[in-house]
Amino acid sequence: MGLIVQKFGGTSVGSIERILNVADRIIEELRSGNQVITVVSAMGKSTDDLLGLAKSITATPAKRELDMLLTTGEQVSIALLAIALQSKGYPAISMTGWQAGIQTESVFGNARILDIQSNRIQSELNQGKVVIVAGFQGITSDKEITTLGRGGSDTTAVALAAKLNAERCDIYTDVTGVFTSDPRYVKEARQLKDVSYDEMLELANLGAGVLHPRAVEFAKNYHIPLVVRSSMEKKEGTYVSEEVTMEQNLIVRGIAFEKDITKVTVHGLKDGIHCLPSIFSPLASNYINVDIIIQSFSETKENNVSFSIKTESLEQTLDVLKENKDVIKYDHIEWETKLAKVSIVGSGMISNPGVAAKMFACLAKEEILIKMVSTSEIKVSAVVDEQCVHQAANLLHDAFELEHTVVSV
Ligand code: ADP
Ligand code: ASP
Ligand code: MG
Repeated sequence: MGLIVQKFGGTSVGSIERILNVADRIIEELRSGNQVITVVSAMGKSTDDLLGLAKSITATPAKRELDMLLTTGEQVSIALLAIALQSKGYPAISMTGWQAGIQTESVFGNARILDIQSNRIQSELNQGKVVIVAGFQGITSDKEITTLGRGGSDTTAVALAAKLNAERCDIYTDVTGVFTSDPRYVKEARQLKDVSYDEMLELANLGAGVLHPRAVEFAKNYHIPLVVRSSMEKKEGTYVSEEVTMEQNLIVRGIAFEKDITKVTVHGLKDGIHCLPSIFSPLASNYINVDIIIQSFSETKENNVSFSIKTESLEQTLDVLKENKDVIKYDHIEWETKLAKVSIVGSGMISNPGVAAKMFACLAKEEILIKMVSTSEIKVSAVVDEQCVHQAANLLHDAFELEHTVVSV
């Protein structure tokens, strides 16, 4: 008998009918002789609705209270799912994050899991129950309720799988697996049979919302086989693991994109040596995440530095730069909103020069202006106008022939 951790996302528990369907999927797993822990998200779009309620009072609700509010969404679905299983004659118990012993750091809105005190879960499993855990939430050492960031239920599931040595973690969602790009926007996207942890981590970090990046990080660090599959259709899904068997030689495996990006440029920097730390240290100490940074130093001209951030951080970024104007010693700041980042990802890039050039040529041919670029061993990202991003993703998907070269399942 093995232990399986399953996770069902918002759409998959979006109605009573769907919750009953989830109960049936759990029962199938029990009948094949496994113990089951099931993590669930809030029903449908209820997290967005709760957020909307708070924002209808103020644009800047306190983060502690937001976490208190948002965690109620998952509490609804765990209770309903436990009731559904019990009504079908299967013993089940629901647990909030703190009841499940999920300890996090003291950061509201984006806390990391530090440890899981799993004795309560273990004892309920030993009594033959299905344990249903609220995703996306935990508790700090001083008993404050926290959330793990949007999409964080995936991370709850994988962390539980790691802690309890599960055989596998199944992420049930509204698509049949991980695709070469978001199938909602890229018409030729194909499902991948398998994908490596590293490629999946890049895709997730670069905006492929199908998995929470920290869930992939946990799976990689603890060697948890992860399967992304449909909660509605009985299909095999995509395996995320260390080894990928087929398609290994493909240069580009997937295309991800992310909207709501802003480019900030600090003009007229006077202090060549100290300008970079004087800009980025205060941003870091204010927990502002900076992505791409561009600087080309010149002895003769005044220097500029550009960097990209999520648009939601713009106001805070400008405040920090203005507060530190005397130390940074700049002339003025410019920013451009409504940008997006499109990225190509694939471990085959390491040994194949010319991939970035092909990407640039493909976008230039259709007059899509690239405003910033960044590369790593296995990805190339380009910042473009937000309105072009779906077109760019489709063009790159065609250019790298992802519809032909990928074996779909
Ligand atoms: P859940 O509520 O089940 O967690 P999400 O909305 O978080 O579901 O994630 C599933 C969605 O991720 C899909 O509906 C799809 O639009 C989007 N998505 C983005 N990139 C990809 C990709 N590469 N493969 C599959 N789905 C993707
Ligand atoms: N309900 C949370 C969200 O919408 C967590 C999750 O779905 O993973 O972000
Ligand atoms: Mg999700």
